Amino acid sequence: MSRYIGPSCRLCRREGIKLFLKGEKCYTEKCAIEKRNYPPGVHVDTRGKIMEYGIRLREKQKVRRIYGLSEKQFKRFFNLAERKQGITGSNFLILLERRLDSMVYRLGFATSRKEARQLVSHRHILVNGKCINIASYLVKAGDEISVKNKELVTVKNALESVVRRGLPLWIELDKENMKGIIKQLPSREDITMPIKEQLIVEYYSR
Ligand code: SF4
Repeated sequence: MSRYIGPSCRLCRREGIKLFLKGEKCYTEKCAIEKRNYPPGVHVDTRGKIMEYGIRLREKQKVRRIYGLSEKQFKRFFNLAERKQGITGSNFLILLERRLDSMVYRLGFATSRKEARQLVSHRHILVNGKCINIASYLVKAGDEISVKNKELVTVKNALESVVRRGLPLWIELDKENMKGIIKQLPSREDITMPIKEQLIVEYYSR
């Protein structure tokens, strides 16, 4: 399935929550959720009651859109989580957080995951000193993630706003040198976004 290239704010309005897909704009009053928090489209009022299947589908779509993955990529990660020991839903979210693009975003080198993915694919990101251009690369505890070119204006600007977003406890950031260490892998409790991962497990188990 191809990647969605339509308006990002439409996705937030569809899910009814902020998915933080547009970087800085998401923190201003220009955010579409602040201005028009109702589903997009002309037949909004005529849609029927959402059924059990629909609830699970929406949760799956919400998380898929937060991480900006295609259905195929998303399912591949879910299958990976299923094969791991422990609770599938928690494993799944932790795996998504461990993606290199997600970590680059969490470190504040980019204002959105989309921007982070671009940094990775354009070979601007080093993991333990080695250039990695695979967004789905899974980072490990102790890994050092850094920016190759310290003069990159987009990264400088993104780092300015990292304070507002807050840095997760599992990451240590050296803003001056544009590098960060993964102190430990996140646990389920560290992922504070409003996600009911059990619904995704149920969606794929149907
Ligand atoms: Fe979503 Fe950000 Fe657009 Fe707001 S500005 S609707 S959070 S993508």
